[in-house]
Amino acid sequence: MEQTFIMIKPDGVQRGLVGEIIGRFEKKGFSLKGLKFITVDRAFAEKHYADLSAKPFFSGLVDYIISGPVVAMVWEGKGVVTTGRKIIGATNPLESAPGTIRGDYAIDIGRNVIHGSDAVESARKEIALWFPEGVAEWQSSLHSWIYE
Ligand code: GDP
Ligand code: MG
Repeated sequence: MEQTFIMIKPDGVQRGLVGEIIGRFEKKGFSLKGLKFITVDRAFAEKHYADLSAKPFFSGLVDYIISGPVVAMVWEGKGVVTTGRKIIGATNPLESAPGTIRGDYAIDIGRNVIHGSDAVESARKEIALWFPEGVAEWQSSLHSWIYE
């Protein structure tokens, strides 16, 4: 089954959005496979965002991600990468639709509350980076009530 990497950024933690965000993924029917509450260092954040290292906002982005603890998670389910991005909303909260996490809870692109993998391949890489120890093996007993 498909998996994605979701991270509640330091602003989401500080603003008390952890329960709300986890609830949205849970209520959709996705399964939580891994979760940790951690503060990462600069080298780790630079690795996570390596693809953006040439961008002018890169150092500010890294400062933001290391500014406090984050909630790192692995969520599993059919189509979870694409649907997870829809639940999160557009990168710039000025353009994220109301009803999405960023659309409901953020204003500035540099304080957009949450990260989600943008493709199955990047999800695989990000899960390996953040959860080198692996994730939980379990299946929800609600499985047959969610999947036909
Ligand atoms: P995402 O996949 O929707 O998170 O967007 P990207 O992968 O393109 O960018 C990663 C993160 O960098 C975004 O979530 C923003 O926090 C930040 N970011 C992207 N573009 C900008 C920008 O133009 N300015 C600033 N300050 N931050 C940006
Ligand atoms: Mg991205």
